[in-house]
Amino acid sequence: MTDLLHGYRRIVIKIGSSLLVDRERGLKRTWLESLGEDIARLVGEGREILVVSSGAIALGRKILRMDPGPLRLEESQAAASVGQIALSRTYLEILSRHGIEVGQVLLTLGDTEERRRYLNARATISTLLALKAVPVINENDTVATSEIRYGDNDRLAARVATMIDADLLILLSDVDGLYTAPPLLDPNASHIPLVEHITPEIDKMAGSAGSELSRGGMKTKIDAARIATSAGTDMIITAGNRLYPMAAIERGERATLFRAVDNPVAARKRWIAGQLHATGRLFVDAGAVKALVGGMSLLSAGVTRVEGDFRRGDTVTVFDAARREIARGLIAYDSDEARLVAGLRSSEIGAVLGYEGRAAMIHRDDMAVDPGAVDMPGAQLTSA
Ligand code: GLU
Repeated sequence: MTDLLHGYRRIVIKIGSSLLVDRERGLKRTWLESLGEDIARLVGEGREILVVSSGAIALGRKILRMDPGPLRLEESQAAASVGQIALSRTYLEILSRHGIEVGQVLLTLGDTEERRRYLNARATISTLLALKAVPVINENDTVATSEIRYGDNDRLAARVATMIDADLLILLSDVDGLYTAPPLLDPNASHIPLVEHITPEIDKMAGSAGSELSRGGMKTKIDAARIATSAGTDMIITAGNRLYPMAAIERGERATLFRAVDNPVAARKRWIAGQLHATGRLFVDAGAVKALVGGMSLLSAGVTRVEGDFRRGDTVTVFDAARREIARGLIAYDSDEARLVAGLRSSEIGAVLGYEGRAAMIHRDDMAVDPGAVDMPGAQLTSA
């Protein structure tokens, strides 16, 4: 069997409640410790690991000795409040013994779906990774109300994975992959190791069932696969209920791999290029045009004029001096700030804004350049 983890550098591991919490005995310590060892080994290999962990509600209701059965919204919020502390402490314990720091990140739906907040969350998570900490992420169940929440961590994990351009998302759950039919109900169900495209047949196979502890059934996992793969992230569904679950994937235990449609940056650029509603316009000098076509970020120094009223994270159009559109991108500044920093060198930005600011007005990963719009033979390009 091939090592399914081979070559992946940034991996989001989603851990379902039923793996973490036993209804009778509480946290599954031995399993968690084995997961901690797996993560430490992967980090030691130079990979970046993020954990999206469920279990706050399941753990909290156990700690608070709440009755079995469905919870009212405020009860599950209270359970999550208590359970989340225990959950974070557990990750700290299992990772700090390997010298790994942990950062807790609690997200609500708006943090991944509203662009300004999305950029903020992305910056925080990327900084944690740059600082070599393992982000441990969950939905902020204590404040999320039923109308504005994910409710399942499968889709949350998929959005997080695409947000930070992870190359792999692993859903560890109580099933070892996708079957042609629910394996418990149909003895003829066969396991599907690889999904290249999510077709209506695949949707049909997923059905809708979930287990008692976790919210997502196979359906939310396929939704997650659709989010992940369409943004360039591969996804694996496998059973996590064995010790050393990452090692199990590497040695080829049963799993389903959903293959990404594209690579993440290319996919985002395509999404940006397809944005119809650009709220602002930036005019740039010839040096900046050269830099953009050469794949560099747009620095403030090259911006000669800013038009329109926009917020950080909005899509803006970039024009050259001859008013030809050369790129579209997600702007890193609100329009009033963009006007202030236009034309400034990076070292001058701090003094004008009163805070450090960003050197790039549009980061190259957030920009789709149309080289065809530029009269500039590639041979002349320098990497400015
Ligand atoms: N966010 C929920 C929790 O931590 C879990 C959601 C899910 O099971 O997917 O309890």
